[in-house]
Amino acid sequence: MHLSQPGVMWYLSDGLTMREQSSDEEHPDAISTFERFDFQSLWRGREKVISTERFILTSLLSRTDGRRTLEIGTGEGRLSGVVQLNSQEYVGTDINLSFLNRISRSCENRKMRLLASNLYHLPFRDNSFTTVVMIRVFNFLSRPESAMREITRVLAPGGSLVMSYNPKPSIATFIDDLKAILRYSSMVGDNWKPVTFSTGDAVRIHPSSIPAFSFSVRYFARLMSESGLAAVAESASGLEDYRFVDRLPDELFQKMAFSLYRMPMMPTRFVLARKINGSGKLIMEAESIYCCPQCQSSIRLDDASTQTFCGTCGFRRDNCQGLPDLRYFPD
Ligand SMILES: [Zn+2]
Repeated sequence: MHLSQPGVMWYLSDGLTMREQSSDEEHPDAISTFERFDFQSLWRGREKVISTERFILTSLLSRTDGRRTLEIGTGEGRLSGVVQLNSQEYVGTDINLSFLNRISRSCENRKMRLLASNLYHLPFRDNSFTTVVMIRVFNFLSRPESAMREITRVLAPGGSLVMSYNPKPSIATFIDDLKAILRYSSMVGDNWKPVTFSTGDAVRIHPSSIPAFSFSVRYFARLMSESGLAAVAESASGLEDYRFVDRLPDELFQKMAFSLYRMPMMPTRFVLARKINGSGKLIMEAESIYCCPQCQSSIRLDDASTQTFCGTCGFRRDNCQGLPDLRYFPD
């Protein structure tokens, strides 16, 4: 059984179920590494979603400065090709090294670097990028404020953030709530509450095997402005993920994405925002953007050595077949 729906209940798909620590016991920096996450099962049969998201991403990226782009949460690179096409220099990062390995085998971009990192501690100096792309990551963030601070730190002033999120309430949260009641009644325990009608700005999704959250549109707008970001374009999608629209053409959903973006209840929202304040300028030299994720001192990535220690704090970074592992998790 596969619940290939845009809401977060797709974690219940049989092929994807895994158990990780509950968020109550987690370190505040904890982030799922998505070990054993089966992206191929997750995306099988969802070509309409992929084509719609490629269209939206291409449209939004055409309005950004592509001199140097960071993609956060590449996964196995479902949309990385689109990001690379619109970037003169591309850096892709994910918390899971094995995902990055799969991308590096499939892509040949001259000015491309892949590395593993924890998005709460990005190994880049301030003002490193003209554009940051983060698709289908936001709803897994237990500390979105910290993540947005980190993203705006590495963005140069005037730089762009292109990201997606799944707001509540939406058609997806409503359908997921119905499914939880109808199909998973044994899993719906005392802790479960419908997401759609919850009044909080941020709600933990129950049950889910990976910590996942749903945020209101109001919360998201506030977070953006508190992070020094101004939305300049929006798009909405997600209806194309449902079987009842199988026969409708892809072009219809592409047209809807920008014409009906104000429609409430759409499952997925894409936003293009610009960093409107901050000081300094873009770091010009590509090899000068890296820093130690623990102490922020400047570092150079050496592809040849398998293990290097930070000269300032001693942080150890491994190099796994040309993929630097810069994941830092504070104790
Ligand atoms: Zn260091």
